[in-house]
Amino acid sequence: MNEPLNAKKTALSPEHESAWSNYVEDFRRAGHDTVDWIAQYLNTVAGLPVLAKVKPGELQDSLPASAPEQGESYAAILNDFERLVMPAVTQWNHPRFFAYFGCTGSTPAVLGEMLAAALNTNGLHWRTSPAVAELEQRTLDWLRQWVGLPEGWFGIVYDTASTSSMHAVAAAREMVAPEARTSGNPPGLVLYTSEQAHSSIEKGAIAIGIGQKNVRKVPVDSEFRMWPEALATMIEQDLAASRRPFCVVATVGTTSTTSIDPVPHIADIAEKHGLWLHVDAAYAGAAAIVPEYRHILAGADRAHSLVINAHKWLLTPIDLSAFYTRRPDILRRAFSLVPEYLHPQVDPRAHDLMDYGVPLGHRFRALKLWYVMRYFGREKIEAMLRAHIQWARQLATLVDADRRFELVAPVPFSVVCFRFKGTDEQNKAILGQVNASERFFLAHTVLNGKVILRLAIGNLATTWEDVQEAWILIQRGAQAFE
Ligand SMILES: *Cc1c(COP(=O)(O)O)cnc(C)c1O
Repeated sequence: MNEPLNAKKTALSPEHESAWSNYVEDFRRAGHDTVDWIAQYLNTVAGLPVLAKVKPGELQDSLPASAPEQGESYAAILNDFERLVMPAVTQWNHPRFFAYFGCTGSTPAVLGEMLAAALNTNGLHWRTSPAVAELEQRTLDWLRQWVGLPEGWFGIVYDTASTSSMHAVAAAREMVAPEARTSGNPPGLVLYTSEQAHSSIEKGAIAIGIGQKNVRKVPVDSEFRMWPEALATMIEQDLAASRRPFCVVATVGTTSTTSIDPVPHIADIAEKHGLWLHVDAAYAGAAAIVPEYRHILAGADRAHSLVINAHKWLLTPIDLSAFYTRRPDILRRAFSLVPEYLHPQVDPRAHDLMDYGVPLGHRFRALKLWYVMRYFGREKIEAMLRAHIQWARQLATLVDADRRFELVAPVPFSVVCFRFKGTDEQNKAILGQVNASERFFLAHTVLNGKVILRLAIGNLATTWEDVQEAWILIQRGAQAFE
């Protein structure tokens, strides 16, 4: 029944034709079944435990140690997926997933992913798939307009913000120390970011050989924002010691508390010293779609590059990171290895995406974002973002009103950081109890040496009731310590 393709038959033989059409028909049936499975999953995911309960090695041990010699039916595969794999899945697409950053694999994006996989088209340069290059340019330009970045910025899709920021750091080095491309890093290059920056910034610096000891962690103020006066002083000290500052990374929406670095002030300093300014807005950049939150990207127009993850708060399943730069010429200088005379295109509108980064192959990722932006439209996305921010505010008000708890950071977006006014162990116990309920997943962070509870809203299906119930459970957990 489930007859795999017979490679011995020639492509033109009638037997081949019928094997091929069986193969496609098999897909058609299983595809419908799979879409039905997904629809059923989306209707019932809210009732599943958020956190996978398996022990390390459990899934691996339940799977055969070697791959099948003979092909199997789709039904058998889907059955094992449900029976064995699903219990080991932590449900990021769950409305009560409040850990890290809440996110959504939305249905239009699922369909976009499916089409991208079916085409398997690779946009390494323009000619290898004009659709990949041009739909990506158009879609990222739409997003650029939504968040209010300047006209003319170049956008490219990478897998993650970590990759995006590594490319920013490499472009920064190309601008300040172009000799590094042929001779390796000159001594003394220094990068600046805040104590609250995401680890990917330091990782990017490690990856391109800057060295951890040349990453300056600028102190933050009481609201976890980079302290620009300290940045200026650190740069002066490095210059006095004949080092070469080359890059500043500001964060709009830090990972722990979603604090916003003072980008305009940081831009002044970066401009004064001729440094590349990269803005990491991986999570919070999406909020700029909401008109009254446009201001969060103030000063970003003066940056050299900026990253926003569509796979965080923009309804797109992992992975899709939108990287923007106003200096694509420098990014290209850093990464292009194709001599000009070998360039297949001379048309300035034909972008060869392989010239703008480490990967050669370029997935048709933009297709899923294009689906998302068209299916929901700006207004629906704006409404979701606004609601999430509002619920975070409401939760902050509830926390503030309970004398047993304290807010530990402002709530500019959809993340609330708070703690039970007790010991770290008590806070961990409360968190453990909430997560053990299986109905929620919250993570903790550490601020000023203390364990902090952190609730992040970001899923399309989340309601205010979900947030309220989490709070009730947290309060109940605190009762044990009264
Ligand atoms: C999540 C996050 C990152 C890392 O994102 P990935 O896409 O997982 O690499 C980087 N910076 C900030 C501010 C983030 O919130």
